[in-house]
Amino acid sequence: MFRRLGRFLAALALTAATTVAGVSLTAGAAQADGCYTWGRTLSQGASGEDVRQLQIRVAGYPGYGAVLTLDGAYGPATRSAVIRFQQAYGLPADGIAGPQTFNRLYALQDDDCTPANFSYPELNKCNSDWSGGAVSASTARFNALVSMWKLQAMRHALGDVSIAISSSFRSYACNSAVGGASNSRHLYGDGVDLVGSPSFCRLAQQARNHGFGQILGPGYPDHNDHTHVAAVGGWSAPNCGI
Ligand SMILES: [Zn+2]
Repeated sequence: MFRRLGRFLAALALTAATTVAGVSLTAGAAQADGCYTWGRTLSQGASGEDVRQLQIRVAGYPGYGAVLTLDGAYGPATRSAVIRFQQAYGLPADGIAGPQTFNRLYALQDDDCTPANFSYPELNKCNSDWSGGAVSASTARFNALVSMWKLQAMRHALGDVSIAISSSFRSYACNSAVGGASNSRHLYGDGVDLVGSPSFCRLAQQARNHGFGQILGPGYPDHNDHTHVAAVGGWSAPNCGI
């Protein structure tokens, strides 16, 4: 009897380990707690820093042409974003952020709170400390973080393709060196230039669904060799129907 129980427990442990390993392989769940752990289920009407942390991570799911406000208040727009996130990952889409939603987010985030497929160095090829831009270093770094979560949603929607970044945060010195516009969103940390494949138009068109208030691509002056996305500023990519 004890031997049978032992075998049962061993089998149970194996199952658990396999599941954990499976999640790890998908995206690194073991690193989740290194960033942030939610302590309660969140739904419409909730407010607080935990809601804001959720909003940052679903900022790429506001719906076409919309930008999610990161205000820590779980209103209808946050609920809709959570539903879109849940749908994107095949979870029950109830608009309530509970264990399943949080586990998926843990699996998607690294210890430094960046999403699995993007990193701070990728978003800052200008300097090491995010200084010298139009906002404080901490604000620029945070703005870049939000852009990364939007890009993570976008790459998933495109079939988990990799998205290549040629330029993102720039200090005024870095911006001048590359001839960037004097009011460029790259100075704020949220501007990101996308290159490679999918095509520039495909990237620009898809970006409309993921919280980018600014999209500049083919047909817009100086944007025939990349697609630029940022938090605010409007859309123009005439060669792509935008
Ligand atoms: Zn740009």
